[in-house]
Amino acid sequence: MKNLSPRQQKLLNWLTQTGDLSIAEIRARTGVSQATAYREIHALIAAGVAQKVPGGITLPESAASLCLHCRRPVNPRLVFHIHASEGSRHAACCAHCGLLALSHLSDTHQAMTADFLYGALLNAAQAWYVLESDVAPCCRPSALAFDAQSDAERFAAAFGGRVYAFSAAQAEITRLMALSHIGNRK
Ligand SMILES: [Zn+2]
Ligand SMILES: [Zn+2]
Repeated sequence: MKNLSPRQQKLLNWLTQTGDLSIAEIRARTGVSQATAYREIHALIAAGVAQKVPGGITLPESAASLCLHCRRPVNPRLVFHIHASEGSRHAACCAHCGLLALSHLSDTHQAMTADFLYGALLNAAQAWYVLESDVAPCCRPSALAFDAQSDAERFAAAFGGRVYAFSAAQAEITRLMALSHIGNRK
């Protein structure tokens, strides 16, 4: 998975907050040249986290669609973007569905999710996850993503749940869902 430069990450954070970003705004906010502004938006488009519009970029269409796993509307604050190698893009409503959906997809090129505290998009494979927190804004068991392990630990200490790195979170949510299916059958 390709990581964004600090400047690209900053642009992406602005884009996530405002929903769109023009070349003029990028130049005004960062002081870069027109050519650099174009290069940066092309990097974001190539990473699958932005979509070209005349004079700038918007969030990808998938951000406004339904969850690929449970069909709930996608909440931009919790979104989990999945980009397949063949170019298709999907969004899950939250990390719960994103982690489950990823375990069914074999050819994932990149996955990004929103930091629950700050809203910034993170490489999902490098995020920390709090599972089964009392804070459950979307699917249950709740899965919330954090950039910093220390934030995840503090959140879990305050609001319940346990902290996992990406692969462990994926395994655990799959296990929890399997248990709940068994529970529902009786
Ligand atoms: Zn979902
Ligand atoms: Zn959800």
